Amino acid sequence: MSEQLLIGVDIGGTTIKIGVIKTDGRIVEKWEIKTNKDDNAKNIPLDIWTSIKLKLKKLDIDKKAILGIGVGAPGFVDVKTGEVSIAVNLGWKDFKLAAILKELSELPVIVDNDANIAAVGENWKGSGRLADNLIAITLGTGVGGGIIANGKVINGVNGTAGEIGHITVEPGGSPCNCGRNGCLETVASATGIVRQAKNAIQSGSTTTLNDRSKLKELTAKDVFELATSGDKAAQEIIDRVTDVLGLAIANMATMINPSIIVIGGGVSKAGEELLKPLRSAFESYTLPRIDEACEFVIATLGNDAGIIGGAYLVKQAQE
Ligand code: ZN
Repeated sequence: MSEQLLIGVDIGGTTIKIGVIKTDGRIVEKWEIKTNKDDNAKNIPLDIWTSIKLKLKKLDIDKKAILGIGVGAPGFVDVKTGEVSIAVNLGWKDFKLAAILKELSELPVIVDNDANIAAVGENWKGSGRLADNLIAITLGTGVGGGIIANGKVINGVNGTAGEIGHITVEPGGSPCNCGRNGCLETVASATGIVRQAKNAIQSGSTTTLNDRSKLKELTAKDVFELATSGDKAAQEIIDRVTDVLGLAIANMATMINPSIIVIGGGVSKAGEELLKPLRSAFESYTLPRIDEACEFVIATLGNDAGIIGGAYLVKQAQE
């Protein structure tokens, strides 16, 4: 019998990442296809399966060797049915992703939220070291989150557990993509950081953010850079972001007592500039016993976390 293999799929707003993965987590082959959002993105399952079929043929892999497909979707996912309740970016509503892909491929299909599979991937082959209790936070365009407790990713009754980005941190604050106001995402995402920088410029603060914004479109990276170089307004933004994020993480940590908190996404590239103030905010808001047992790390898998996590869910389902 040929070696058994797993397939991981990570559906994003612009690209879909797909990987053929060994049962020890090593990537045999990974590639991307464009996310076709026409007709409310209804062709995505067919696009995925067509691409996988072609690739298996090219790699001379028999479909019988594939144990299943683990898929991450951007939105609220009912893990029991594999239905995507809402994926705003794609236009999906009550989309039967698992059922359609199962019918096309005749393979077992597991669907979970994209942030959850990234957390699982990072825990398996990244910086998580198979922790039984872990919180993973992705600071990108939005703020994603995944929680692993007692060795299992937490989904909740309708797939909304671990939606860390939508913890309210500022009642009546800035509008969020979810339709409410003042979510963590509006403060701690790359988009939120840039918005606060633009507000500082508009309020007339004396800041080098202003000069930078005349040269180029501001990014979160600019704000971190200028804070490091001594800009007071930029530093105030970073102080606020890390304080609010540290408080939110401290509250979450009280629920599951994690050994590791993994920070990923574009904003995490700031490294120690982010982790140092974040750690001290966390320390000031959490119980010493929780702090003692808990380590902050930057995610290491980058864009591969999703496909590796998808593969792991398939592997875990076999056990
Ligand atoms: Zn929200």
